[in-house]
Amino acid sequence: MIKLKGVTKLYKDFVAVDNLDLEVKEGEILGIIGHNGAGKSTTLKMIAGLTAPTYGSIHVMGKDMAKESTYVKRYIGYLPEESPLYENMTASEYLLFFSELYGMPSKDAKKRIDMLLKALKLDEQNKLTGEFSKGMKRKVAIARSLLHDPKLLIFDEPNSGLDPLTSFFIIDYLKNLKGQGKTILLSAHNLFHVEYICDRVAIIKGGKLLVCDTMDSIRKSLGSRE
Ligand code: ATP
Repeated sequence: MIKLKGVTKLYKDFVAVDNLDLEVKEGEILGIIGHNGAGKSTTLKMIAGLTAPTYGSIHVMGKDMAKESTYVKRYIGYLPEESPLYENMTASEYLLFFSELYGMPSKDAKKRIDMLLKALKLDEQNKLTGEFSKGMKRKVAIARSLLHDPKLLIFDEPNSGLDPLTSFFIIDYLKNLKGQGKTILLSAHNLFHVEYICDRVAIIKGGKLLVCDTMDSIRKSLGSRE
């Protein structure tokens, strides 16, 4: 589903992502972990086609993002790390507004919005999103990224800084989406959540990939070094 080869991102002469090779298979959840500034968001933005690599190639669904990102983006649901909302709208109005921007037929959009609000336990909310808790706001942003029923979800720290219940709810919801056949690439700080849902984990440090494997294998290889 995703293939990165020799991907490097420079900001002037600063190397944010350094010669990264990475693959994400169809139907898997791959987690990228690393401390602040490791290059997680930059990697996700490049894969989502929001910024171009300085060197290297990115293929998504077999298409070269340097040439066909407009086509591929229709199949990607991207959740940025920060996702401010229009706070003077209800969740439903907000999602309807975006569905119109995306050119979705209004009947389909309303059905999809109702389904998403229900699944994310945001239905029956007549409040404006400005009055929502941080967790509820994050769930609205997730619903927005899923409006067009994308095949590939690229989620930047979906549950970072949220209360434990909402955090687990989101993690379980992502697991459920994998069950529906979605491929998910996410970044996270919390190793426990990553271990709970991810098939494989990529650890990056200073923009370089240290390892990409199952948590079991990573743990074994770390153990064997002691
Ligand atoms: P965090 O967990 O804090 O979000 P991250 O692993 O997602 O960190 P990135 O946001 O990808 O890291 O940033 C990687 C490095 O690139 C950081 O040192 C950051 O300051 C730098 N960087 C990111 N975006 C830019 C930019 N637009 N211009 C210059 N430097 C940038």
